[in-house]
Amino acid sequence: MQRLAILEFLEGTKAHPTADEVYTALHKTYPTIARATVYNTLEALTKAGAILQLTMDQGAARYDADTGPHVHFRCRVCERVYDIDARQQRCLGKEVDGHQVEAMRTYAFGVCVACHKDELAAASETPEGRKKTGTRRSPEKEKGRAS
Ligand SMILES: [Zn+2]
Ligand SMILES: [Zn+2]
Repeated sequence: MQRLAILEFLEGTKAHPTADEVYTALHKTYPTIARATVYNTLEALTKAGAILQLTMDQGAARYDADTGPHVHFRCRVCERVYDIDARQQRCLGKEVDGHQVEAMRTYAFGVCVACHKDELAAASETPEGRKKTGTRRSPEKEKGRAS
């Protein structure tokens, strides 16, 4: 029952929540649910292969009900984790140098679309930021020189 609730919650989100975030969300609907139950269930679901446990850094593990091949991108500003489409999973489920590749973990890091917009907005507001973007070399110029 609780196992199902946790799985359904994960299937309904793309936010890759931590165990704490899963607990906080479920606690609203199931006030009697124990934090330990959430942690143990996430552990059991991970072992059963029903969900993915993401350990991208020293921070808390995150959970993902999407167990298909996809790449995770983490924003270094807000630390949100996004699914991105990157087709570099060609060896998944195949044999590579005699090894049976059963899982692949690829992570991408940078600044997400929301934070990038914030940065651009902040840059255009301050004269200092305007100067910074103004000194950037234009890619068109570079291309023209190369060809
Ligand atoms: Zn961000
Ligand atoms: Zn994911």
